[in-house]
Amino acid sequence: MSDILWFDPGLCLIGGDWVPARDGGTLPLTDPSDGSHLARIARGRGADIDAAVGAAQAAMDGPWGRMTALERGRILTRIGQAVLERADALAAIEARDVGKPLSQARADAVALARYMEFYGGAADKLHGETIPYLEGYTVYTLREPHGVTGHIVPWNYPMQIIGRSVGAALAMGNAAVLKPAEEACLTALAFAHIAVGAGLPAGALNVVPGLGAEAGAALTAHPGVHHISFTGSVRTGALVQAAAAANVVPVTLELGGKSPQLVFDDADLEAALPFLVNAGVQNAGQTCSASSRILVQRGIYDRVRAGMADAYADLTVGPAIADMRLGPLISARQKAIVEGFLTQGADLTVAATGRLMPDAPETGAYVLPTLFADVPHDHVLARDEIFGPVQVLIPFDDEADALRIANGTDYGLVASVWTRDGARQMRLARALKSGQVFINNYGAGGGVELPFGGVGKSGHGREKGFEALYGFSTLKTVAAFHG
Ligand code: NAD
Repeated sequence: MSDILWFDPGLCLIGGDWVPARDGGTLPLTDPSDGSHLARIARGRGADIDAAVGAAQAAMDGPWGRMTALERGRILTRIGQAVLERADALAAIEARDVGKPLSQARADAVALARYMEFYGGAADKLHGETIPYLEGYTVYTLREPHGVTGHIVPWNYPMQIIGRSVGAALAMGNAAVLKPAEEACLTALAFAHIAVGAGLPAGALNVVPGLGAEAGAALTAHPGVHHISFTGSVRTGALVQAAAAANVVPVTLELGGKSPQLVFDDADLEAALPFLVNAGVQNAGQTCSASSRILVQRGIYDRVRAGMADAYADLTVGPAIADMRLGPLISARQKAIVEGFLTQGADLTVAATGRLMPDAPETGAYVLPTLFADVPHDHVLARDEIFGPVQVLIPFDDEADALRIANGTDYGLVASVWTRDGARQMRLARALKSGQVFINNYGAGGGVELPFGGVGKSGHGREKGFEALYGFSTLKTVAAFHG
């Protein structure tokens, strides 16, 4: 690992200084491709979070808090450039830490750079308004930062999620405390080194690795935190929201989904097939917006099933550095969770699986991508988020049937509709319970410009795009009476 890390992974960034956890605690990181030991990271706890929140507040009270939006934007843009220059190095680290195939890890690094460029450019573009009011008044609004923002990030897309939440928070002039996931936090540390090197003032970004129940819980309960952005599981999201409620602090929650693709008889099947498969197996299915439910109209069902099965035959799973379509899951624990779901599918028909690369280490956390056919819409595999490379095919009769099934889970993050019927496209775009709807595509390339977030148990609040800047700021109304 020392061959690809240019920094000490065992430290926290607090107020511009790289320091060990105050009690000296550390945690091990494992390479999920072969189960080998990677590095030791700091095990931050309450005292470290307290120091980081204090450092962030000091930054708000110091030069960072007084900096113009233009200058903040320039710094973010410089960070983006520096991230881009180190994209290969970041990809190499992420591949080992997350088990993400190298080219997907590199795409994440490029996306992180793009977030910094986007939010760097946006920093001075969000304006207040003047409001026509009673005679003798001038009324206007000011967009202001919340202050100290807490960012709790999961292990599946560390770089992208840091980009979209920390990038937008810094653009609006907040000072951030970042708690990366204990399973994978090396690129969070690498990013912080790059940001400091590109001129981000001390305390504007603080990073405290550690366990969720320790560093994470301390951050969400801290009275000095003014906004919390969380991405992860529903169970933890509810805890985060409860902790934030105690301090009456706003939260953004992004909690995953069970996202459907609706394929109608008139769909362009050739165009749809790559999306139907890739949206489910990308990052080994460990994607909040993974498409795990494929709803297919009966007239085209057999062709979709056969086409997807053919595509599955080409899906190879292997170590991240071998850069196959799928890497391992993040951990042996996650593998056990996914295998538990596969066991619950023992009563179902397996339409296809992928294959394991010869010589893949037996100690890696590998799970074969699996496609189930003819799955009842209320089966546990069609309802629960699996967070592994598992997709279910569900037949439907007509548009009303498809809509009822699509909207029939607790989640609502992403949905897509494959049809040539323009009126149906418009009807379903409105009727689907979902934060994003894609028509004749899925994900639209993941653009940083596109507001993202869920309804229902998928969470609330929006990140990405210009919209995120509203969430990471607050509005002050000034009413001046001058007669
Ligand atoms: P998790 O929600 O427990 O962890 C996500 C982040 O929250 C990590 O940084 C973790 O340290 C932190 N955390 C955990 N407990 C906390 C607490 N009490 N207070 C504050 N922060 C806390 O998720 P997990 O255990 O890593 O994964 C479990 C399941 O969650 C997965 O199987 C998957 O279904 C889901 N998940 C979803 C996403 C997503 O992007 N929506 C990401 C990761 C996991």
